Amino acid sequence: MNRKDILSSLESHSPAVLIVGAGINGAGTFRDLALNGVDVLLIDRADFCSGASAASSHMAHGGIRYLENGEFRLVREAVQERNRLIENAPHLVRPLPTTIPIFKVFSGLLNAPLKFLGWLEKPAERGALVIKIGLMLYDAYTRGQGTVPPHVFDDRAKALEKFRYLNPGICFAATYYDGSILSPERLTIELILDGEAEGDHARALNYVSLVGVKGDTATLRDEPTGSTFDLQPKLIVNAAGPWIDVANRTLGLQTRYIGGTKGSHVILDHPELRAAIGKNEFFFENKDGRIVLIFPLMDKVLIGTSDIPIENPDEARCTEDEVDYFLEMIARVFPSIKVNRSHIVFRFSGVRPLAYTQAKIAGQITRDHHIQEDVLGDIPVYSLVGGKWTSYRAFSEQVTDKVLSYLGLARKAGTQNLPIGGGKDYPWTGYIQLQFFNRVHELTGLPDRWPKILFDRYGTRAQEIAAFMAADYDAALKHKPDMTRREIAFLTQHEKIVHLDDLLLRRSMLAFLGELTRPLVGELAEYTGETLGWAKAQKKAEMTRALDILADRHGVRL
Ligand SMILES: Cc1cc2nc3c(=O)[nH]c(=O)nc-3n(C[C@H](O)[C@H](O)[C@H](O)COP(=O)(O)OP(=O)(O)OC[C@H]3O[C@@H](n4cnc5c(N)ncnc54)[C@H](O)[C@@H]3O)c2cc1C
Repeated sequence: MNRKDILSSLESHSPAVLIVGAGINGAGTFRDLALNGVDVLLIDRADFCSGASAASSHMAHGGIRYLENGEFRLVREAVQERNRLIENAPHLVRPLPTTIPIFKVFSGLLNAPLKFLGWLEKPAERGALVIKIGLMLYDAYTRGQGTVPPHVFDDRAKALEKFRYLNPGICFAATYYDGSILSPERLTIELILDGEAEGDHARALNYVSLVGVKGDTATLRDEPTGSTFDLQPKLIVNAAGPWIDVANRTLGLQTRYIGGTKGSHVILDHPELRAAIGKNEFFFENKDGRIVLIFPLMDKVLIGTSDIPIENPDEARCTEDEVDYFLEMIARVFPSIKVNRSHIVFRFSGVRPLAYTQAKIAGQITRDHHIQEDVLGDIPVYSLVGGKWTSYRAFSEQVTDKVLSYLGLARKAGTQNLPIGGGKDYPWTGYIQLQFFNRVHELTGLPDRWPKILFDRYGTRAQEIAAFMAADYDAALKHKPDMTRREIAFLTQHEKIVHLDDLLLRRSMLAFLGELTRPLVGELAEYTGETLGWAKAQKKAEMTRALDILADRHGVRL
């Protein structure tokens, strides 16, 4: 069903479950409920994956530093989920060698015990011994799964041989594996489309807000038209992330579940730094004790992040002070590489939906997840508090089990080994990939290079997209020759694009990787508008909206 069909189906039918918020937790719960035959509607007041889930550091990780906080359950669950992501969505989540440069041997040994006793204000720098113990535990949690190799410890000489620009002041470097989520936004939309593919009982709408509740009736607003409509769900899942308390207030519930902290990142176009880190993420402790990262993302470098308490998530922006902090911190690990503002191609910022607590240090607030239950008349409201991107599947499973139990239904299917989107029937080895490219080429007649280009972007969905491209006249984009008009038409028609910025920021990585130019934005507006039937004035308004968002939230001025 397209947007119009879904909206008109809701005029005569109320879904049993309403999920408010389509970040990764809402999307994951949606897919799991859909899989189990539940009549469910997922809504988001903005685009899918445009809140906290779009602001992540792109790490599928257990969170080695949470061991120090004693969060063993969380870390065990997250490393297992990291492996599942690599196995179920290999087109978008890849093993990521992660290197910790170490400057001391014994420091930090008392961090964990002091933390347990509540005596620790600021942790001491983590030394080699503490890191070694953490990594042994980390490996132990997934021994037997074999998805990623165990950690290695290199002495100074070996580490400097591997990374010749690394700070010579180090005494060791430890390398272990986590995962890299190339595009959280694409992973989320593919998850949602998988949910909808289960049947007409599962529908998802972006740009629809929850605006109020009276008795058993929830009022929603279709943002593009401003029209409102009513539903009578049996249960509401509040997956509004950092906006959970705001959404609960809309429902008439006064809650204080979230005490979010802001985190920002910048993307650098810096070939020298990119070459210096190679395939590795550098994950290290900055001078002030914060754990920060230098992360390889395609041909760019992602730098993050901060951890600053914030009241209003709508105000999260990457500030100039944060940029200064990021640029300075690179020198701790790669002192000879000069980086400045001119290398920044994109900035982003978001709020972690952490559980409200009185903890003094933001980094010590638990990242674990739980469900808060309230009742609205006869309707239960489940608020999904906390969590990490990495462990969304486990959290969604927990929520789904609770919903199924409330509705008196039995679980029919699980998601542990379920591939996501273009991760289905994934050709893992080079030879099988070659066979896949040949098959797509033979089926569609597209020139040789396209199957691989599409596969790199969309995994095995490349076949469906190639067939769509071949079914009518197509041409490469003038300002981005490795994308085509029909590819844009496919994304617009099949991936729920409402606004131009959905395409620039979330269905593609164009903005993120600093690939946008004004002429390209114009060309993309042209072909998106063609598919959505935009008149000239609407095309212009969409351009203005997209350019404003890029400038205001991402520091991109075209
Ligand atoms: C800076 C930063 C770095 C992070 N790094 C990592 C990392 O590397 N690895 C990791 O595993 N985790 C990471 N996380 C954590 C992870 O990103 C979040 O825990 C996760 O994305 C939360 O998802 P969510 O679905 O709960 O919330 P969100 O993604 O925020 O989704 C909530 C949605 O609700 C919608 N909404 C709000 N109000 C309404 C309403 N009234 N009606 C309809 N819709 C509404 C919003 O538009 C939003 O899309 C990071 C988070 C941040 C902020």
